[in-house]
Amino acid sequence: MSNRFQPQDRFAAGAQYIDGGLVPGTSGNSQDVVDPASGRTVFTYELAGPADVNAAVAAARDAFPAWSGATPGERSDALHRFAGVLAERAEELAQAESLQCGKPIRLSREFDVPGTLDNTSFFAGAARHLDGRAAAEYSGDHTSYVRREAIGVVGSIAPWNYPLQMAAWKILPAVAAGNTIVLKPSELTPFTSLLFAEAATAAGIPDGVVNIVSGAGHGAGERLVTHPDVAMTSFTGSTAVGERVAGLASGGARRLHLELGGKAPFVVFDDADLDAAVHGAVAASLINAGQDCTAATRAYVQRPVHARFVRDVAALMETVRIGDPFDPATDLGPLVSHAHRDRVAGFVDRARATSRVVTGGARPGGVLGDGAYYRPTLLADVAQDSEIVRSEIFGPVLVVLPFDTDDEALRLANDSPYGLAASAWTRDTYRAQRATRDIKAGCVWINDHVPIVSEMPHGGYKASGYGKDMSVYSFEEYTRIKHVMFDNTAMARKDWHRTVFGDR
Ligand code: NAD
Repeated sequence: MSNRFQPQDRFAAGAQYIDGGLVPGTSGNSQDVVDPASGRTVFTYELAGPADVNAAVAAARDAFPAWSGATPGERSDALHRFAGVLAERAEELAQAESLQCGKPIRLSREFDVPGTLDNTSFFAGAARHLDGRAAAEYSGDHTSYVRREAIGVVGSIAPWNYPLQMAAWKILPAVAAGNTIVLKPSELTPFTSLLFAEAATAAGIPDGVVNIVSGAGHGAGERLVTHPDVAMTSFTGSTAVGERVAGLASGGARRLHLELGGKAPFVVFDDADLDAAVHGAVAASLINAGQDCTAATRAYVQRPVHARFVRDVAALMETVRIGDPFDPATDLGPLVSHAHRDRVAGFVDRARATSRVVTGGARPGGVLGDGAYYRPTLLADVAQDSEIVRSEIFGPVLVVLPFDTDDEALRLANDSPYGLAASAWTRDTYRAQRATRDIKAGCVWINDHVPIVSEMPHGGYKASGYGKDMSVYSFEEYTRIKHVMFDNTAMARKDWHRTVFGDR
């Protein structure tokens, strides 16, 4: 099935979006964007180099005084218009996202694009509710209040798994709060970040407020993190790269926000609705081909229902339709690249010696042979301390382990360096309540796994990072708080001066 999005026409002027327009990069290095479903190169562009990052940061710096000085109502109106333009361009966004990621078009149309529109509408409203929480006479002699202010130029770095939503999560709270931004998408997936920035301009958001540099991590990425005019770094990606970025960002003591990897546990107690848990496990481990930081990856299942869970999950995984991302019937597309597919396959191959591959563990052949596909994979009889249980695989791979007691289940769920998301499946409110309290993760679902909403925060514990995306909590990242204090006494010699002057 053919797609209609033609990147070579759409981005003929270049794949950098600086100061309100598309321009070519100047690094001297070119990058192919490959359709992972076919292995075909669909676009080649020149990567951003340091000069492009400098130009984008300069545009953002120049746009900051007027944008941060606009009223909340003016920024809110612009974001409402932005949501309208995105809605008109929804199908183009969905096709571009599916082409560059290999994501099933159904997922792009029903999850990525509507989620982005909803985020934009949410931040259009939230822009008018930037609160400073207190105003009062705390000393008796002064009136204090809190101002919440924009920080300046934000430098953001995003991964390839949900490029459109990551652009939205980074750009929207930053600009709603009055900041300007330079976003670096993954060099593999620049299309929808560029379309998102173009839509911002079409909505009347001033030039320079939203800029995109499509460049490599070690080149454009490191320049963006260390640029002296960037006041804050916001990074979403792997924990290893996040740790490097944190080191680089420490110069100048700039603000840092890190959304990193995950390895979400999926805890099934013996009283759970097992059919719901089985469907939930398959959906939550295979969404976006498992390339989801919150995906279900470690299922802990109480021993009386363990064998049935393994059998039913494997059977359901085998019904999933693998195929062309542009076919609306396709459930599972390829992984983002052939290199990443081989990385995922490597984890499974190394686990074979010590565990049981219940289903999957292979690439499909036939017409899908050229694509970066990998079959839905379930492993059982795995050891808690094995690589496949501890490392983030980021593919359509679920491991299942049994447990006996509730204490053991919660201990195993927490036995991970990560703490982004988790779920517990039970009909017992006491068990559910205890799981929500004791699991150390930024999100705990009960009897579901994956749904997100614009109003609620997303962010990790432990090696999954710190700070929040979405919701009004993200304003904590993208604003700074100022205490303003007015003297109310009008006295030249104030009482507290005694501490310096004594009784003189
Ligand atoms: P990655 O860490 O390899 O790359 C992320 C981004 O960092 C890319 O834009 C890359 O070009 C850039 N980068 C690489 N090296 C850099 C450097 N030295 N300096 C500056 N930038 C650099 O991650 P990925 O493979 O693109 O994405 C998958 C990872 O993202 C997974 O670990 C996943 O869990 C994580 N993720 C987390 C969240 C979350 O909200 N916590 C959301 C989505 C993805």
